[in-house]
Amino acid sequence: MTDWVSLFKEAEGLLRTRDEQALIIYLEIIDNNQQLSAISCYRIGEIYNRLRDPISSFQYFRTAFENNPRLSQILVKEDHPVYTYNYTEPQENHIENCPLCGEKGHPYATYNTTTSIDFIPGFHPIRLWMCCDSCHHLFAFNYPVNLGELLTNSAFEFNLSPKTTFFPTISRMIGQLTFIAPGDRLLEVGVGAGELSAVAKEFLFNVTGLDIRPPYAKAVSNMLDIPVYTVDFLEFETAERFDVLIMGDVIEHMFDPIRALRKAHSLLNDKGVLWISTPNFESAFSMVKKDTDPMWRIVEHINYFSFRSLKKWLDILGFEVVDYNVSGHYNGSMEVTAIKK
Ligand SMILES: [Zn+2]
Repeated sequence: MTDWVSLFKEAEGLLRTRDEQALIIYLEIIDNNQQLSAISCYRIGEIYNRLRDPISSFQYFRTAFENNPRLSQILVKEDHPVYTYNYTEPQENHIENCPLCGEKGHPYATYNTTTSIDFIPGFHPIRLWMCCDSCHHLFAFNYPVNLGELLTNSAFEFNLSPKTTFFPTISRMIGQLTFIAPGDRLLEVGVGAGELSAVAKEFLFNVTGLDIRPPYAKAVSNMLDIPVYTVDFLEFETAERFDVLIMGDVIEHMFDPIRALRKAHSLLNDKGVLWISTPNFESAFSMVKKDTDPMWRIVEHINYFSFRSLKKWLDILGFEVVDYNVSGHYNGSMEVTAIKK
């Protein structure tokens, strides 16, 4: 009689170094052993992703969660916030065309997002990334229809306390902005825990903030005594114009980043400065880490820019890129400074 557990262990030992051999064993297991079927489907999903077959990867990953809705209990440790996750299929939008240029994208890579501590139940655990060749841009094929509601209602405790260790790197960035900003009015979109707004205030900027998550907006407004509005940036209405507009780690969360960049342009004074940080899938970090880059698995990121895609669209929308840096806070993220033309 076949010892399926031993065979499974053998396949586990072959992962990454001999993926093709492991694949044959896992395929045999799912045909013959119900108990090991879900985790084997999951491994096949990982293997097909590494073999650059994102469609097969997507199908096997999804089947894994359908076969065992409690699969996360096998994949993460007991103290992981996703350990208790019970899969239910969400209602999703399926996006085939690039949100930047509208051209048809092609499947690029597939990842399980539930191994990341900031997974939000309500999203599908499996993300298919699409690629637009003409923009060098990646975008989510699937995200929940109630995206805005899920983001508004999910605030992470660990994001509420400001990371004071970020202050020196933020101060170097804000210091640079003081030399090129035409005035002192600064708008931060997505204040988070408020580190950047705090340093901007120290540098004597007149700071206004926005955050769609009410607990973040309230905490930062109280902490810094500045106005922080709970509103989606695209819905933000004001007669004010700003000299600096900060979009730190927000455009990757937006389903229509072009509309957001257009809005940023319209809210800036002449020669106003736009500062953006966002993950770069063509970063040195991502090139080295490949499928182990954690940015692939952040469920609320639905766009994954490259410097090429971001620069191209900033140029088109009326900005001139004047600086580029590798983020000091998030591995694989870029920091781009652009001036309104
Ligand atoms: Zn495109």
